[in-house]
Amino acid sequence: MTKPSLAVWKFSSCDGCQLTLLDCEDELLDIAEAVDIAYFLEATRTTRPGPYDISLVEGSISTAHEVERIREIRRDSRILITIGACATAGGIQALRNTLNHDALRASVYPSPQFIDALETSTPIADHVEVDYELRGCPIDKHQLIEAITALTKGRKPSIPDYSQCAECKLAGTACVTVTKGIPCLGPVTQGGCGNLCPKIGRGCYGCFGPKEGANTAALAAELAKLGADRRTIRDLFGGFAAGAPAFASERRNHDG
Ligand code: SF4
Ligand code: SF4
Ligand code: SF4
Repeated sequence: MTKPSLAVWKFSSCDGCQLTLLDCEDELLDIAEAVDIAYFLEATRTTRPGPYDISLVEGSISTAHEVERIREIRRDSRILITIGACATAGGIQALRNTLNHDALRASVYPSPQFIDALETSTPIADHVEVDYELRGCPIDKHQLIEAITALTKGRKPSIPDYSQCAECKLAGTACVTVTKGIPCLGPVTQGGCGNLCPKIGRGCYGCFGPKEGANTAALAAELAKLGADRRTIRDLFGGFAAGAPAFASERRNHDG
């Protein structure tokens, strides 16, 4: 039986999500056995032309060239999975979406005329159809393995759609907000990281992005009752998933 071909693509990003694939030390050999790695520059210089069965796409769309490239990759891919907060929500670079682009460029670069970037950093789904999303900054290794395994076996990947609060309950973690008054975005954030932050006594800062139907206004009101000021609430919603519409709009509500 022919193995499905796998391609891994990088757009505007830090490579951290691709490294998660390389970090699957114990499982990497099995993954390499199950798929034909046709394009993965982080791992090998050997490349094969498409079409590809599965494409993993890391990074946001931040230049005009990237707009063209993602369209070509979509045409060449049977299943396209976006990986990480950059690819699914625009990433930390989406913080510029609400600022004056020219002023920002001039404040950072001595020769801003050479910086050929779009005014916004946008998720891949704003440009092409996406089949599955893996959230996080970086993504969770177990979710990645589940997605690849499921697709190579011809089934739908099981990706959680519940909130971080459900993860706390499943893990038996005491709520940091209730017990310590620590602000936490868990009620509006998609689960799947394995309860990383609350488990060590920290509030969730939302790197998995908003869960479907997130009531950010209700959470912001609760955070204010706990004593969080406007700036704290704005900054909480302005992290790695700041470009996701639900978080972006709550951030705007607490601007100024
Ligand atoms: S989501 Fe985070 S880890 Fe992944 S590429 Fe973007 S910045 Fe890097
Ligand atoms: S710690 Fe955060 S994620 Fe966990 S139950 Fe409390 S609010 Fe929800
Ligand atoms: S608890 Fe929240 S901030 Fe921490 S890793 Fe999970 S989703 Fe990200």
